[in-house]
Amino acid sequence: MDNDQPHILILEDNDADAELMKRELRKAGLAFTSTWTPGKVPFLSALENSQPDLVLADYSVPGFDGLSALTAARQRFPDIPVVIVSGAIGEELAIETLKGGATDYVLKQRLDRLGPVTLRALQEANQIAERKRVENALRESDERLRLLIEGIHDYAIVMLDTRGYIASWNTGAERILGWTSEEAIGQHFSIFYPPQTEKSGTPRRFLELAAEGRHEDQIQHVRKDRSLFWADVVMCAIHDAAGHLRGYAKIMRDISERKQAEDALAQANADLQAFTERLQRSNRDLEDFAFIASHDLQEPLRKIKVFGQRLQDHAGDHLDAEETDFLERMISASQRMKTMIDELLAYSRVTTKAQPFERVDLNAVVREVISDLEIQVELTQGQVIIGEIPCIEADRYQMHQLFLNLIGNGLKFHRLDLPPVVQVSARILEPQHTKATGRLGSMVEILIEDNGIGFDISQLERIFKPFERLHGKSEYKGFGMGLAICRKIVEHHSGKITAKSQPGFGSSFIIDLPYQESDKLLNEKTII
Ligand code: ADP
Repeated sequence: MDNDQPHILILEDNDADAELMKRELRKAGLAFTSTWTPGKVPFLSALENSQPDLVLADYSVPGFDGLSALTAARQRFPDIPVVIVSGAIGEELAIETLKGGATDYVLKQRLDRLGPVTLRALQEANQIAERKRVENALRESDERLRLLIEGIHDYAIVMLDTRGYIASWNTGAERILGWTSEEAIGQHFSIFYPPQTEKSGTPRRFLELAAEGRHEDQIQHVRKDRSLFWADVVMCAIHDAAGHLRGYAKIMRDISERKQAEDALAQANADLQAFTERLQRSNRDLEDFAFIASHDLQEPLRKIKVFGQRLQDHAGDHLDAEETDFLERMISASQRMKTMIDELLAYSRVTTKAQPFERVDLNAVVREVISDLEIQVELTQGQVIIGEIPCIEADRYQMHQLFLNLIGNGLKFHRLDLPPVVQVSARILEPQHTKATGRLGSMVEILIEDNGIGFDISQLERIFKPFERLHGKSEYKGFGMGLAICRKIVEHHSGKITAKSQPGFGSSFIIDLPYQESDKLLNEKTII
């Protein structure tokens, strides 16, 4: 049996009439399958066993009739078309048949109508079935959408009519705004806004903007309990198929927490900015002070030294041993003070007299430094070993000062039983996100290692402070400014300096400085 062909259930006690009916149907071009039932029992059982697409029922069958057959068929299949076929049917009976729900009726004398009537009935039944299917699908999809919108908790989804009155309200809206759907539906959506916003005409403007398509905003809203909160809002106009405005969809999200976090961050940034400015100002003041003080102190000091020496020249012969000692101590103290002032000046100049950064070949700088330190190397019978150090963007003079202090210390703080060996090496570190800019940046790590007397690592912080020394002045010359200057230079280059050491086992000074890939290429050329 072909499943596409309609199946027709025929109730007709006369088999010749049933055959006639089928012939008429075929004549009308209808391809079908059929079940012929001559009376009530087989008809009802056929209805029970399968679903026909149409019923052709003789109006009067012994012990049964067309109207009862119609009722039985409709009880089982409410939408099934039923065509009554009758030998003779009066007008009243015909009307009664149609009122009873028959799709149509055909007189046996006019059986030629049966084909077209059946075709039309089947067609209509198909259309009805199709419409019902579409309606069901629509209803199901509406229901799914409703459940979906209803189930959204984090967003308030509100439908408004064309004038802005609330037409639907989801659980998210109830949770965020506090009104139940019974309370909200029918109200104007301006209840969402604080009175001043409402008075300024903002809600009306939102509707106008949304009517043009879509409007987004971040604005303060008001809850049922009058508390305020910030919300992210999207409002869209909804049009029907003909393009007429049907209303608006308003979707809101409570962003109070984000807003608070943003405000707190902005406040923290402003505080930090203010603090940085205060710090910069105070640093500048301090540097100006250090510079002016050390600069202005030089003149009277020079006079003390000069006049002390003149006194020594003129009156040297008349002075007794104690007086000569006083004078010598005074002159050497003034000399020490001059060195201290020079160091202080050098310290303040790291920032006040900084030069613009240029590409500096650190290998060349270290070689110059070694040549400056030639005498110390010779006196100590020491050795400086240089590995490969790249080019970087830096203040050339300050780089010289940095390596002079560190290599100089490596030679100076050597063990009496062991000639100093100072090694300078470097390696490029894996790129990391720098704290200052958050950008990915490479660093070069420079290591200055010695085999000298070392120091107690608990004193690490102290050695980088101005005028701090761990070892005696008589054994090791110096004023304790070298490492303070080194730290300032490194920080001026956005780098870091630290050290590792153990008394008696040498020291390693570790410097991290910003490094660009382009520096490397240039340096490779320089090394060759
Ligand atoms: P200075 O060399 O004039 O004493 P620095 O600021 O360069 O001043 O160093 C401060 C102190 O740190 C030194 O006095 C010394 O005690 C210690 N120090 C610095 N470098 C070394 C080193 N390579 N080995 C051991 N101790 C060191």
